[in-house]
Amino acid sequence: MPKVNIQQVNPERYAQVKAAQDSLKRQCSGMMKMVRLCPYCDHRVENVVRGEHGYTFAKCSNCGEEVVFPPVSFRKTS
Ligand SMILES: [Zn+2]
Repeated sequence: MPKVNIQQVNPERYAQVKAAQDSLKRQCSGMMKMVRLCPYCDHRVENVVRGEHGYTFAKCSNCGEEVVFPPVSFRKTS
């Protein structure tokens, strides 16, 4: 269960962000993605789209550990 139901708390903001997010999602559709798994429990922590990425910090929603991923770079081809 989410702690905050932003859709109810701030519907205006939700609609605005949702539209932007949907547009970003469309931009990423069809792009190659890499899944990053939690090193502790193999839970899927994030998806990375082809390109250059620096270090990322993420909190695993499964085991609650904070995990750091090293920079990754995979070539863009189009
Ligand atoms: Zn984990």
